Amino acid sequence: MSRQVTQTKTRRATPARITAVDTYDIRFPTSHRLEGSDAMHSDPDYSAAYVIIRTDAANSPEGHGFCFTIGRGNEVEVAAIDALRPLVIGRSLDEIFDDLGGFYGILVGDSQLRWLGPEKGVIHMAVAAVVNAVWDLHAKREGKPLWKLLSDLTPEQIVALLDFRYLTDALTPDEALDILRRALPGKAERESRLHADGYPAYTTSPGWLGYSDDRLAALAGGAVADGFTQIKIKVGGELADDIRRCRITRQVIGPDFRMALDANQRWDVAEAIEWTGRLAEFAPYWIEEPTSPDDILGHAAIRRAVAPVKVATGEHAANRVIFKQLLQAGAIDILQLDACRVGGVNENLAILLLAAKFGIPVCPHAGGLGLCELVQHLAMFDYLAVSGTLQDRTLEYVDHLHEHFADPVVIRKGRYAAPTVPGFGATMRPESRRAYTYPHGSAWDRAPAGDVHPGEASE
Ligand SMILES: [Mg+2]
Repeated sequence: MSRQVTQTKTRRATPARITAVDTYDIRFPTSHRLEGSDAMHSDPDYSAAYVIIRTDAANSPEGHGFCFTIGRGNEVEVAAIDALRPLVIGRSLDEIFDDLGGFYGILVGDSQLRWLGPEKGVIHMAVAAVVNAVWDLHAKREGKPLWKLLSDLTPEQIVALLDFRYLTDALTPDEALDILRRALPGKAERESRLHADGYPAYTTSPGWLGYSDDRLAALAGGAVADGFTQIKIKVGGELADDIRRCRITRQVIGPDFRMALDANQRWDVAEAIEWTGRLAEFAPYWIEEPTSPDDILGHAAIRRAVAPVKVATGEHAANRVIFKQLLQAGAIDILQLDACRVGGVNENLAILLLAAKFGIPVCPHAGGLGLCELVQHLAMFDYLAVSGTLQDRTLEYVDHLHEHFADPVVIRKGRYAAPTVPGFGATMRPESRRAYTYPHGSAWDRAPAGDVHPGEASE
């Protein structure tokens, strides 16, 4: 007790505070190469509304975070992060790190800003960027990669990070504690296995809708050779194209390799059932985002109709309440949380626990810009401290833009190697940040005509 008092006094003698929340509009001109192209997003420019949190602590690292967008509107996301700045500037690090659950509550509960959501869309993604930056700062100061920092917490400490409002009809704090306590035995052994073997991954790189058949075939063959456990291809443009592309892919990967399909919200419910049925001969493992991400009952109907093809969704699920209902309604076989779509680390911990309660495997969404770097930490934490298993788990991987990050993901034999560098993996290299700042970074000066959007180039 006396030691705690002493520590508190010592910390109060040198209060370190957050002094800056700096934002950046960073965009990569990926649209001309059709990377990321799918049935709904034909020309994405992978972008980040990026935030750096700075402090006045001596020798303190910075906290880096971002939310992912696909081009136009990234400036709106940046403005939303700017709107959160007054809630963060001047707060002491002790106050924040002693109660990260409370800090999260301050950001999502602001009495005026919450009207923009609540807890959904642009303002909630902005919360994610700030919350994730604070977790990055925390992990760097503790000298641990985030997955390790989280998995070293006690079940009680983890539960204190969560907001159970709107969840208790599906998951109570006591149930969350039980799930976390049940995962304690074997945790050290799982951590050793994680260090030795990494975390299983699948790849979406071959399957962008804009790629030629030859490129699809070559990349699909490469994915098998590289040791991935699954491949995913985009569908939902033209049915004849999907049939041809599925046939090519199946021929290349063989009958036993898992092939997932991703429709990116393209269909109405009946159309999803019909279209997936037409592709069933190619034995898809899952159909992803078959319809609107808000349509819980629609997903449930699709799931009932297309079984044994599994239904997966989550990269556009707005918050933990949508995930709760997807689980309660028996609407999904696979839960695909995203590191930056919901309110950051805290809300994703709640979603991992919800999935564990309902026995649904989590296969996170990644790719984009830096999403692999972030979400790997949450998947590894799930394995160590929540679900305790790799059964039917696989983490998305897309092979581009990693070179712009200070601590890029490492893939070995189709598996994510456990990160060892302290932090959340969000730190972008300063030279990349400068070059891809929109619209005046040097990369945009060199971008092909048409990549700088009308009305923005002359700013
Ligand atoms: Mg997807």
